Amino acid sequence: MIYGVCVTPFDILRIAEATGKRPSDFLAVLPEYPEIERKESIVVIDGRRSMLVLKWRRGFVCPFYKSDGCSIYDARPMVCRMYPFRVKDGKVVDAESRVCPSCWKLEDKAPYLAEHRSSEAEFAAYCRMVAEWNQGPGGSLDEFISFVLEKAKAAHGR
Ligand code: SF4
Repeated sequence: MIYGVCVTPFDILRIAEATGKRPSDFLAVLPEYPEIERKESIVVIDGRRSMLVLKWRRGFVCPFYKSDGCSIYDARPMVCRMYPFRVKDGKVVDAESRVCPSCWKLEDKAPYLAEHRSSEAEFAAYCRMVAEWNQGPGGSLDEFISFVLEKAKAAHGR
């Protein structure tokens, strides 16, 4: 099983601004995971049901992971802000997967609930974009990125 760090267009905008990289430099698509909990983010790219993720290095290590931790900490994806927890039935619980190799302090879960609220709002907006894209003619990864970034910029008033 291949795991990736899922991103929304809002994450992409933050990472691109923080790093100066083009989205195509750090994005990739993976086939839909059979076990994924949030089917709403499954996007059809080149006719295949896919997920938008950060490109990975050998061993499926996040490209932004450095020996001293996350190199884009302030711009890290929303899924990373929640990590290594997730919210289930309104409670913060441990995430099952372990994609990021950083060591995380687990003693204070309170900040994760605040991050979760922001994450939910952005994820809901992303799901609307994906639904619109999936109902349209479809296209390539580059075309999908352009489509969602335009909408994300508009949502942020840029
Ligand atoms: S928190 Fe970990 S997985 Fe997320 S961007 Fe940073 S290094 Fe990558």
